[in-house]
Amino acid sequence: MNPVLIIGGGFAGLSAGVALADRGVKVTVIEQRRILGGRAYSVEDGTTGELIDNGQHALLGAFHETQKFLKTIGTDGLIRYQDRFRMVLAEPGGGRMTLKAAPLPAPFHLAAGVARCRGLSVVDRLHLLRAGFSIVTTRSLPDRMTIKDWLDSLHQPESLRLRWWYPLSISALNELPHRASAELFLRVLKQAYFGSVRDSSFGIMTVGLGDLYTEQSRKFIEARGGQVLCNTAGFQLTFTGCRINAVVLRNGGTIQADHMISAVPHHVLRKLLPQELMRKDAPFEALTHLTESPMVSIHLWFDRQVVDEEFIGLVDSPIQWVFDKSRLWKEGDTQAGALACITSGAYDLIDRSKEDLIALAQKELGRFFPDVQKAKLIHSRLIKERQATYSCTPEAEQWRPTQETPYENFFLAGDWTRTGLPATIEGAVTSGHGCAELVLRSM
Ligand SMILES: Cc1cc2nc3c(=O)[nH]c(=O)nc-3n(C[C@H](O)[C@H](O)[C@H](O)COP(=O)(O)OP(=O)(O)OC[C@H]3O[C@@H](n4cnc5c(N)ncnc54)[C@H](O)[C@@H]3O)c2cc1C
Repeated sequence: MNPVLIIGGGFAGLSAGVALADRGVKVTVIEQRRILGGRAYSVEDGTTGELIDNGQHALLGAFHETQKFLKTIGTDGLIRYQDRFRMVLAEPGGGRMTLKAAPLPAPFHLAAGVARCRGLSVVDRLHLLRAGFSIVTTRSLPDRMTIKDWLDSLHQPESLRLRWWYPLSISALNELPHRASAELFLRVLKQAYFGSVRDSSFGIMTVGLGDLYTEQSRKFIEARGGQVLCNTAGFQLTFTGCRINAVVLRNGGTIQADHMISAVPHHVLRKLLPQELMRKDAPFEALTHLTESPMVSIHLWFDRQVVDEEFIGLVDSPIQWVFDKSRLWKEGDTQAGALACITSGAYDLIDRSKEDLIALAQKELGRFFPDVQKAKLIHSRLIKERQATYSCTPEAEQWRPTQETPYENFFLAGDWTRTGLPATIEGAVTSGHGCAELVLRSM
C-alpha cells in the first residue's frame, strides 16, 4: 500500500509531493502526460530547437509559498526579482509609461512612484492614489462586485484603467474586468503592494518552466524513496464509507493508498469522482459550477531584437504583455528577437486561426515598436490554453472547495481550490502545501 498517492504533476501536485518527501514521507505522483508541469510546462520547438513555455510565467515577490517550494528543490536562484517594482507600458507609436517605485518603505515606495510617474496625467495620478487609499481602508466589498464595478465606484477614468488597472488585473486574474472578482483582486493588491518592498517586485524566470521545477521536483521526490510516474492516468476514484481507497488507472491497473491528494484541474476531478458522490457531497457538486477562462501565447522569432524591455505591457491592445526571452532567459538559451506575446482572458482570440493570430500579433507589435516594421519574422508558434484557469468571478468563490473533503484521507489541491488567491502558481503551491500539512496531521 502506498502511504500517499498524488494525482497530477503540476505545481500543486509536485509542491505537495516535495513537502511530504521533505518530511520523510514516501509519495507516489502519477501524471497522465508524458511530461510534468500541467498548465505550466516547457516544450521543445521543433524548428528552432529552443525550449518554449506554454505561456511565459511571471511571479511576484509576494509569492512566499512558491519561493519556499523552489528553495526546497534548490531552484529559487533561477528567479530574478526586480530590486523595486517597475512596470513599463508601451503606447502606440513608441511612447512609454514607466511606473517605478521610489527607494522608500512600502507602501510609500509606490505612492511616491505614482506621484512621480510622468506617463500618467496629474488627474490619473490623483485617482490612482485615491484608489490606493481606498484599498488600505476597505475591509470588505459588496457581494458579487466585479473589478469594473469597483473601478466605477471609485470613478477611475478610462485613461487610467487602460494604463494601470486593466494590464494588472487581467493578468493577475486571467479574467476580464467586467467578470472578475474585485474582492480577489484587492487581496492580491494588498499582499503585493502593502506588504514589503520585495513583495511588489516582479520575479522573472531566467529558464524555462521545465528547468525551474519539474525535473528538480522529480529528483527530490525520488531521492527520498518516492516515485513519479508519467504516462499514468487516473480514471476513477473508489471510496468505501468515509475513506478513499484507490484510483483505477486508464490502463486498467489500480493503485491503493492510505492517503490521496487530487491535484488535477476541477473539470478532470469531476470525471474521476463516482457520480453518486458528485450528487451527494456538496463540495463535489460545487465543481459543476466552476467555469474556465482562456489564454493565448504567440511565440515569435524575429531576425533581430525589436523590443527594448525585458517585458512590457501594451496599452489598449489585444496583445497584453510581450516578453523578450533573449533578455530574460540565460544567455544561449534563446536567440535575439525571440518574443512571447501573452493574452489573458482571451475570449476574443481563442477561436481565431493561427494565421490570423500571428498576423494580428505582428500588426500590434508594429504599432508599438517601430523596429518591428524593419525586422523579418522567421518563425512563429501559437499555444492556445482554452482551460487556462478557472474563471475568477465573484460567484465562483462560493464554489471553490477547501483542501479537506468529506473523506478523511482524501484532499484537494489545485489553483482552483479555496486558497483565497486567484488561479496562479502561488495559489497552486499554497494548496499543495496545505494538503501536505493535512496529510501529515492525519498520519
Ligand atoms: C498560458 C498560461 C500562463 C500563465 N501565467 C501565469 C503567470 O504568469 N503567473 C502565475 O502565477 N500563474 C500563471 N498561470 C497559471 C498557472 O500556470 C497555474 O495556476 C498553475 O500551473 C496550476 O497548477 P496546478 O498544479 O493547480 O494545475 P495543473 O498545472 O493543471 O496540474 C494538473 C496536472 O494533472 C494532470 N492530470 C490531469 N488529469 C489527470 C489524470 N486523469 N491522471 C493523472 N494526471 C492528470 C495534468 O496533466 C496536469 O499535469 C498561467 C497559466 C497559463 C495556462
